Amino acid sequence: MRDISQSKGRVEIDNVLIRFKGRQGPVTALERTSHTLEPGTFTALIGPSGCGKSTLMNAIAGFVQPAEGTLRLDGRPISGPSPEVGVIFQQYALFPWFTALGNVRFGLKQFRLSRQEEIARARAALEEVGLGAHADKYPQQLSGGMKQRVAIARTFAVEPKVLLMDEPFGALDAQTRLIMHELLLSVWRRHRPTVLFVTHDVDEALLLADHVQVMSQAPGRLIRHYPLTQARPRSLGRSGDDLLKIRDEILGLLHPKTLLADTL
Ligand code: ADP
Ligand code: MG
Repeated sequence: MRDISQSKGRVEIDNVLIRFKGRQGPVTALERTSHTLEPGTFTALIGPSGCGKSTLMNAIAGFVQPAEGTLRLDGRPISGPSPEVGVIFQQYALFPWFTALGNVRFGLKQFRLSRQEEIARARAALEEVGLGAHADKYPQQLSGGMKQRVAIARTFAVEPKVLLMDEPFGALDAQTRLIMHELLLSVWRRHRPTVLFVTHDVDEALLLADHVQVMSQAPGRLIRHYPLTQARPRSLGRSGDDLLKIRDEILGLLHPKTLLADTL
């Protein structure tokens, strides 16, 4: 298991271009893109539907191979899925026949720990997301927010260097989302993986991230970068706030008219 004190997690996206086979020939899902995610940073990726956000994530996760260019994690090419890169999707992807504890234990199997250590680690991970009392419940007995907490516990239990989240809170109500934001930030602070967080909610990006990357319409490329240094917890309530200015700019970039002009 990884020694957190030596944690890295630099993701290099080097001239990466991704194509899929379409009915009428190859389709470019991600335009040539270069970017580096620095270790321990939290980047939100925002862009119109279909621009290639999930494709970029799937490539970093090792599920999809680029047609051109290279993806590297701490200098080594990414050639397939690895426990160093954790992924959390909008759909909770829990096994319905395992309890919350069983789901977290499943993620730890690859480390071949003793049964005792595996259970202890899984319990600690559930405690960390506030589910210590629900370890023996099955997914269907848990709310959406609780299921996503189990998914977070399962991922963090493995101590990934990189955490990819694809619209993870998209299915949750506003109140639960706020709770999940706080939870995610506190777990991220403690473990400090490099996070890439896809969202189509500009506010969510501004509340969470220290870098916001905006992608163009399909085939996507990174068109704007906003570094955010505001202390957390953040709020978008006060008028005149820098964050509100950035929010207007991003909404402008994502406005259908702007997107249309971009392609003309
Ligand atoms: P986003 O997550 O930004 O909404 P995606 O990355 O899912 O966008 O998709 C980008 C483009 O690639 C879309 O045109 C989509 O239809 C296409 N695409 C994604 N995955 C596949 C696949 N496995 N096979 C063929 N086309 C795909
Ligand atoms: Mg997507």
